Amino acid sequence: MSLAPYACDPARSRGRRHLEEAAPTRTEYQRDRDRIVHSTAFRRLVYKTQVFLNHEGDLFRTRMTHSLEVAQLGRSIARSLHLNEDLVEAVALAHDLGHTPFGHAGQDALDDCMGAHGGFEHNLQSLRVVDKLEERYPAFDGLNLTFETREGILKHCSKANAQRLELGEPDGIGLRFLERKQPGLEAQLCNLADEIAYNAHDIDDGVRSGLITLEQLEDVELFQRHARESLTAYPGLQGRRLLYESIRRMLSAQVYDVIAETANAIAQAGLTCANDARDLSPLVRFSPDMRDRSTELKGFLLHKLYRHPQVAQMTVQAKRVVRELFNAYRDEPAQMQAGFAARADTARAVADYIAGMTDRFAVREHERLTGNRLLA
Ligand code: MG
Repeated sequence: MSLAPYACDPARSRGRRHLEEAAPTRTEYQRDRDRIVHSTAFRRLVYKTQVFLNHEGDLFRTRMTHSLEVAQLGRSIARSLHLNEDLVEAVALAHDLGHTPFGHAGQDALDDCMGAHGGFEHNLQSLRVVDKLEERYPAFDGLNLTFETREGILKHCSKANAQRLELGEPDGIGLRFLERKQPGLEAQLCNLADEIAYNAHDIDDGVRSGLITLEQLEDVELFQRHARESLTAYPGLQGRRLLYESIRRMLSAQVYDVIAETANAIAQAGLTCANDARDLSPLVRFSPDMRDRSTELKGFLLHKLYRHPQVAQMTVQAKRVVRELFNAYRDEPAQMQAGFAARADTARAVADYIAGMTDRFAVREHERLTGNRLLA
């Protein structure tokens, strides 16, 4: 893998919080990726909702398959730009580790429950998972990942949380939010790969579920452009193959757009090292036209899919499950696993416990504690 001078170089990593000897055959970012793949939180992603509840169908994306798709798109773009593929893969595989069960509904409900206790943000929770909550090493909590991987995982962070992080780790992971700087290019790339991935797979899952139709997608220029191209190349194409061919062409167009626009932005900026990118506005980006098209598609998915009455009905129930779980554990912490029950800060322990749950474990626990079976 040939790295550009502005790529993150594992030999120049800002390192791990707990000093460890270098591995004989792997770079530091390969090691991060391997630690993430072996973590408990990673395996749980299989049973966590992306948009559709896990048990609603076997073919819908889960957090796991979403994360794999982000890693695939990210690596593919990174290779063309001579950025560090291993770092991109590590960040992509870890970026959603902090997600609650039931997707955004779960996160919103947990944030409400934690309102008086510092709130709940899934990005910060992903960082907590790799910094604190994984219990795999004798000498430290968490996975002890490199600074660059942790920086990529913490995509967003409120000012208050950034200040809290900065207190615990001066000149560390929270500082860029206080100084309004960017993360490295590999982290920037993961953000965009995330958007490209969910836009595409949510169209696929949305049509598969019957909640959105190919006819509705005629209003979305980005999709329509590629559906037209597909029909020109394959007259009479219809149904699933038309959907896949259109999505495939749409994905390729977005990937090539990011590569061309970013290569150009990097050349214009005259970057000489990885740190140069941190002081500038984001360089990994779509062209202005593709930015508009992607934003239009996101708006379509928001209104027609994420806010579809059937999804909204699930959202109400999912929020109730999370809220009632939260109250039950707060009233009786001994109902949690011993390690969580023993912690002094009960509210945060409950949030960590619930955030770590898979959809079906949350449903079962809710039934055990309340006698009501929801979402089944
Ligand atoms: Mg994601």
